[in-house]
Amino acid sequence: MGQQTWEGTCHCGRTRFQITADIDHIRICDCTICYQRGALNFRVEDAQFTLLTPLSDLSLYEWGTGTAKDYFCKTCGILPFRRPRRVTAQEAANSSRNIFTGWAINARCLKGLDTSTLPIHHVHASKLPLPDDQQ
Ligand SMILES: [Zn+2]
Repeated sequence: MGQQTWEGTCHCGRTRFQITADIDHIRICDCTICYQRGALNFRVEDAQFTLLTPLSDLSLYEWGTGTAKDYFCKTCGILPFRRPRRVTAQEAANSSRNIFTGWAINARCLKGLDTSTLPIHHVHASKLPLPDDQQ
C-alpha cells in the first residue's frame, strides 16, 4: 500500500487525527482491554501521529500498572487510539524486546482503510511476562 496519510475520527467526529504510515498488517491483541473491545490495532511512533482535536477533550481510562492510557470520545464512547503501557527503566534494562513508546491506533477509525484485506498479526500480550496491557 505504501506510506500515506490516513484521516481518523471517532464515530461522532468530535475526535479527529491523522497518521502517516504504511499499513501493511493489523494487530489483534488478546490483552483484557483489546479483547473486550474487539480491537484491530496498528502501531505508530509519535512522529507519525497528529492529533487535530485536544487530547483533553477525551476521557482517559487508566488501569493495570496505570501507565497505559486509553482515550475515549466523551460523546460517542469510541476509543480511537491508546498509549500502550510504558515499561520502567528497570524493565527496559532487563528486556531483550524492543521498547515501544508510540500510539496504538484503532484501525477501524481510519477513513477508507479496508481492514479485511490486511494480514492479521495475533499478539498474545496476555502471555507476556510483563503485565497484560503491553498491546
Ligand atoms: Zn465521538
